[in-house]
Amino acid sequence: MKTKIIHDECIGDGICEEICPEVYELRDDGLAYVINEDPDDSLDGKIEEAIEECPTSAIVVDE
Ligand code: SF4
Repeated sequence: MKTKIIHDECIGDGICEEICPEVYELRDDGLAYVINEDPDDSLDGKIEEAIEECPTSAIVVDE
């Protein structure tokens, strides 16, 4: 599942990285970044959890 992060919405709490570090990385600028643009299907569960747990709904599916 491909996702992207809306940086205007990201508050940098790092929850997405805690849940799925294979795909999300919190950087020194206080924003999370997608580090795997085309993750394996086996990560879909963790990606969905990150989407659900993001407090500002900053992670969106990139279709
Ligand atoms: S969980 Fe959401 S608000 Fe928190 S760092 Fe990740 S994208 Fe940003």
